[in-house]
Amino acid sequence: MSDTPETDAERKMQFLYALRSKGVTDKRVLGAMEAIDRGPFVRGLFADRAYEDMPLPIACGQTISQPSVVGLMSQALNITSRDKVLEVGTGSGYQAAILSKLARRVYTIDRHRRLVREARDIFDHLDLTNITAITGDGSFGLPDQAPFDRIIVTAAAEDPPGPLLAQLKMGGIMVVPVGQSDAVQSLIKVHKTESGLEYSELRDVRFVPLLEGLGKDG
Ligand code: SAM
Repeated sequence: MSDTPETDAERKMQFLYALRSKGVTDKRVLGAMEAIDRGPFVRGLFADRAYEDMPLPIACGQTISQPSVVGLMSQALNITSRDKVLEVGTGSGYQAAILSKLARRVYTIDRHRRLVREARDIFDHLDLTNITAITGDGSFGLPDQAPFDRIIVTAAAEDPPGPLLAQLKMGGIMVVPVGQSDAVQSLIKVHKTESGLEYSELRDVRFVPLLEGLGKDG
């Protein structure tokens, strides 16, 4: 074992290796995750743990998701470069930044004004010009911009929210953690087809809850 501090290149290699070993194998998703450094999205005390495959605390009592879960959710969405994507739960902005490398246009919404403001600053800094970040209650979606090719919810709902299902295009895919807020939830993939909604369970996950209304700072 060497005591030499790891270089950025080594850290990146380990980060990508951890993603692959957890099942993130889609080349476009791995490319996006290589291009977007998680470092700027983690501030304060936990900044030096940004490259570990774990969720970490962010402002407003929320969390930035585990990178492998970000990768698996992005992969499950099967996004093309023509797609318009809605993310509910901007949080740190990390997932939206990954989506911005895969999709034509990304709308992301969070109930905390502060999180949206901070995420926007990072998007500007990284020149990610195809993301629009909005403060609001994302359970109602964004009717003005609907329909969406893909929808990703990064907070746990008791059921896939009806307004979001309604705003999904025919042929579209939605990924959402479903279950009681403080228990293990199931990550569900919903495919909207001519013959109805097809549901499949992807894996167990643990997300903060999807809450009603705006945050205190909203
Ligand atoms: N995707 C984020 C990232 O990349 O950092 C992580 C999201 S965090 C696990 C969940 C987020 O959902 C929190 O920021 C929380 O404020 C937000 N949230 C919860 N309920 C919401 C709602 N009804 N509308 C919009 N955002 C909501």
